[in-house]
Amino acid sequence: MTVVVAALLGSAYALGRSLVPDQVPPRHSAGATTSADGPHYADQPSGGEPTGGAPTGGAPTGTPSAGTGPAETGQDGSGQTTGTDNLFGAHATSGSPRLALTFDDGPDPRYTPQVLALLREYDVHATFCVVGENAQNHPDLIQAIVNEGHTLCNHSWHHDVGLGARSADAIRADLLRTNEAIRAAVPNAPIVWYRQPGGAWTYPVVSVARQLGMTPLHWSVDPSDWELPGAAKITATVLTQAEPGSVVLLHDAGGNRQGTVDALRRILPDLTARFELEALPTDPT
Ligand SMILES: [Zn+2]
Repeated sequence: MTVVVAALLGSAYALGRSLVPDQVPPRHSAGATTSADGPHYADQPSGGEPTGGAPTGGAPTGTPSAGTGPAETGQDGSGQTTGTDNLFGAHATSGSPRLALTFDDGPDPRYTPQVLALLREYDVHATFCVVGENAQNHPDLIQAIVNEGHTLCNHSWHHDVGLGARSADAIRADLLRTNEAIRAAVPNAPIVWYRQPGGAWTYPVVSVARQLGMTPLHWSVDPSDWELPGAAKITATVLTQAEPGSVVLLHDAGGNRQGTVDALRRILPDLTARFELEALPTDPT
């Protein structure tokens, strides 16, 4: 456990200093993913938060890079989510033999269209975990995602990794605002998944998501593309760790994601030869 925590702290530290934010400044302090320049929208845990690994299967799940720097955890370092039950029941696998690709933090006009084009080329459907303010700013991309057969996941309004520590009412308002932005683009769009930014699950955020008809969604394969390791490393991690039922975490926004797009070009021919890929269903149990 000590090693894991140390790795996480290092990961949070690296995250805090290595990524170039491209978003507007946050309205709320959000721990490790907040800086003076704004959040960088990466689905990584900060100190004291979930490990990002699936609790099932025992397969390696994208161990964060080790480091020795201090965690920039802010108010999130309470430790309330340490231990093996830190997902609070969030799904970390697809629930079927099929593999699910998920793309977080968008939509982004620079990268989302490239991702959509590649998915179309390989006839693959995926799931997009969108940020409410980005959905509001790019309704055309929300429409494109749905029109091309992909499914949607609520990823909070402003990618607040500390959302789970707020009141149930505040969480509910955030999630509802996000769904409203999505549905302003696509009325009646099914939104049955919720992914907590940073994987920083708490009991309240899981409870509210479920009350709103959304199933909490984590992941099982994490190439840490938000750390900009390059297309080759992203590709290698995904292809090495993918297995039936995997939920793969990738990002089509939140920073420079060209490496992810380039990796996807290499990943798709391999994965489609080995697995059946699916968009996570809109009728999860
Ligand atoms: Zn995210």
